[in-house]
Amino acid sequence: MSVNKETLLNIIECMQKNITENRSYLSDLDRAIGDGDHGINMDRGFQEVMKKMDDMKNQDLAGILRTTGMTLAFKVGGASGPLYGTAFMKASDLLKGKDEIVIEDLPSLLDAGIGGIQMRGKAEQHEKTMLDALIPAKIALEEALAGGSSSDESIKAMLDACEAGAEYTKTIKATKGRASYIGERSIGHMDPGAASSLILLQSIAEVIQ
Ligand code: ADP
Ligand code: MG
Repeated sequence: MSVNKETLLNIIECMQKNITENRSYLSDLDRAIGDGDHGINMDRGFQEVMKKMDDMKNQDLAGILRTTGMTLAFKVGGASGPLYGTAFMKASDLLKGKDEIVIEDLPSLLDAGIGGIQMRGKAEQHEKTMLDALIPAKIALEEALAGGSSSDESIKAMLDACEAGAEYTKTIKATKGRASYIGERSIGHMDPGAASSLILLQSIAEVIQ
């Protein structure tokens, strides 16, 4: 697996397509435990990113992720915009001067993104947020690669762990973000941000596999 500029732009386009397709699903999840706008927020953000496609075609890998992150951070109304925006910007910092991403780079890119989300949102794992999908996904990918699994197997392990993490959010109560206002009543519902994180990682897999 190797991701160059063109592939990275394809990944971002695929993220937009999948987020737009799942707009209602994400807002429905948010309606159960929040204010029902997660699909709208994410869709708006990625539509704004698509407007930057022509600019991004003239940028390098770091510039593409930086533009994506800045756009999400500034154009999305909800909490998720600055959180995902910071994640993309932190991942961008790792790509300075690079013109290719290989599978071995993916755990550290995810790790930087997770670090950005935690820096911004001050949440830990088990608080019913996107982190409950992303952290297990990163760990599973890292372990699969360290254990000698192929690129495809490692990506599958990452997606399986991400999906399990998103499912797990149904079993816990929210202690961060808007869903924390309803406390115990958030149990039984999947966190919308965990669901959107799964869609974003699935989009990466869809393009590179
Ligand atoms: P808002 O909550 O402002 O309406 P969204 O609905 O777009 O924003 O996003 C909600 C999602 O953001 C949640 O499902 C959760 O995954 C994520 N989230 C909220 N607060 C935090 C935080 N402090 N750290 C990590 N993720 C968070
Ligand atoms: Mg919301």
